[in-house]
Amino acid sequence: MKNGKSKHVLVAGGAGFLGSHLCDALLSEGAHVIAVDNLLTGRRQNLRHLEREPRFDLIDADIIKPLPARLRSKRLKIDEVYNLACAASPPHYQADPEHTMLTSVVGTHNLLTLTEATGARFFLASTSEIYGDPEVHPQTESYWGNVNPTGPRACYDEGKRAAETLTFDFERSGRADVRIARIFNTYGPRMRADDGRVVSNVICQALAGDDITIYGDGSQTRSFCYVSDLIDGFQRLMAYEGPFPGAVNLGNPVELTVGDLASRVLAMTGSSSRVVRRPLPVDDPRRRRPDITRAKQLLGWNPRTPLDAGLKATIAWFSDERANDTKAARALTLENVLSAGPV
Ligand code: UDP
Repeated sequence: MKNGKSKHVLVAGGAGFLGSHLCDALLSEGAHVIAVDNLLTGRRQNLRHLEREPRFDLIDADIIKPLPARLRSKRLKIDEVYNLACAASPPHYQADPEHTMLTSVVGTHNLLTLTEATGARFFLASTSEIYGDPEVHPQTESYWGNVNPTGPRACYDEGKRAAETLTFDFERSGRADVRIARIFNTYGPRMRADDGRVVSNVICQALAGDDITIYGDGSQTRSFCYVSDLIDGFQRLMAYEGPFPGAVNLGNPVELTVGDLASRVLAMTGSSSRVVRRPLPVDDPRRRRPDITRAKQLLGWNPRTPLDAGLKATIAWFSDERANDTKAARALTLENVLSAGPV
């Protein structure tokens, strides 16, 4: 609640995996929510349960274009703007790299301008990808990263780095009150089966009895955060009232190899899928783990969901999806999507 009244919140990317969970959390606190989504990787079905919710609205629009008239109205009342809009899995963001870059740069600029005009507070969903293939481990917010500026991941990594730059500049010049989260690998219900990331791929492959695709030798590491923990971190960061804290890592510091993840999912699903090796994608980071000291100290935030509990819930969700939809999408591997063109 703000000034005794319910908040008005804009969630760009509101139909996506993270965005739809954020919309749910905000609505459950009494907020009015407008989701904006171009439905490129976001899906209406993530928001179907909100169709009759009077405090919720979805606008089908792309933030790289001039924002819809309704969002430019002088009467628009917005207290918070969350920018979660961007394809975020490597096969999806690489399928149309130009659009990915423009979403982070032009889209973020459009939303920052809206933030300035409305006096709202702005939240940028940045990413651990801004650290590239990190030479500092675990990654602290003070690390500048090791990013290939011209490789296939650059459209996302450099786009998000530029989005951070813009956001910092609006803050520095007093044009907007901003918060920046650097999100590490996150998983949970409402991921797309064809998202292409390792958690959804391995679970969907295991459930379908398809080959489990491990890129490289599977010794690369990631640290996986369950979605509800992450959304709690978003809201704590947005609500933080101290001086601008800079960017804040949000992720679960429990690190494991991709091979270990696959073994756990195979054991939990009882699947007899074979594990097959595929080439390691170009510039694939060798290891990743957040240092979350800043989030702990400033926000009192700590991810609480153990990996096995989160995987269990995610496996159950994908299982239900498969049971309810005989034409359910399959896992998506990098080579498939790149040969197929934009999604
Ligand atoms: N990966 C894999 N098999 C897959 C999909 C991904 O082995 O089917 C690997 C990928 O090469 C990377 C790790 O899993 O090393 C995490 O990849 P993901 O796309 O989930 O996230 P990101 O690379 O953005 O951390």
